[in-house]
Amino acid sequence: MAIHKTEGIILSTADWSESSQTLTVFTPDRGKLVLIVKGSRQLNGKRGRPLRFARLEINCYLREGSESGYLSDVEPVEVFMFEKDGQLGRLTFASGAIELLNNLLTALDPQPLCYQITLSFLRMTNSLDKKRLPGLFAGYILRLISLLGFRPNLVGCVGCGKEIAEAADNSKQQTAPILFSIERGGIICENCRRSMAGQNQMVGLSPQLHGKLSELMTSSLEEASQKAISLKELNEAVDMLTALLKYHAGTIRHLKSFDFLDKLVRAVKTYGG
Ligand SMILES: [Zn+2]
Repeated sequence: MAIHKTEGIILSTADWSESSQTLTVFTPDRGKLVLIVKGSRQLNGKRGRPLRFARLEINCYLREGSESGYLSDVEPVEVFMFEKDGQLGRLTFASGAIELLNNLLTALDPQPLCYQITLSFLRMTNSLDKKRLPGLFAGYILRLISLLGFRPNLVGCVGCGKEIAEAADNSKQQTAPILFSIERGGIICENCRRSMAGQNQMVGLSPQLHGKLSELMTSSLEEASQKAISLKELNEAVDMLTALLKYHAGTIRHLKSFDFLDKLVRAVKTYGG
């Protein structure tokens, strides 16, 4: 085994005996690593700080050509305590994001850009005003799933490419939903929907929400956090993305469990009451 020095974020921990734990970490250079920790006390860091949401310096021994090994030592360089106003909401969004990441990342697939935006997301979840968290969360989730290959197409019909515009005349208060095809991974026009044979899983998006999500697709996290997204809209968006990931990640990557997505939906629903 060779010693390897890197940094990372904890995705999950599991106890497998009184004195040992396994630690799943996301590193920028090696992707997801599973490390055995002997003496779980070290997981609190040398200065006793909790490491659950933190950027860590990690020394580990890795098996040749493998993503598993042993933790040698770990030290936090940046800890996110979420102590500002709205602590529960901050924890909810951060936990949901980390769990989603843990379920979507696959072994031996470094995602350095995902790593960087996840760090930015945690930093901003720790520091921004709580009113900006729903926009930040929605923006992060869209960026994350796009980087990992599940980018929803919100621009033109997935059948014919025709632009599906929001009602041009705002005075009409156009409320007919824009249909999103889960199977095709994008919005679809009435004509194409009618010509599609068989059962199709569709989600209706309000034109307002469709407009906001389209903007978020091209927003930085900073810009996303400035968008006014209500919790009702966030619920709708998470429901739609949940259906998309269940369908596509479930078939392509054979993920074991999507319970975390239901948990995420529930968490978003309870956030803010
Ligand atoms: Zn079409």
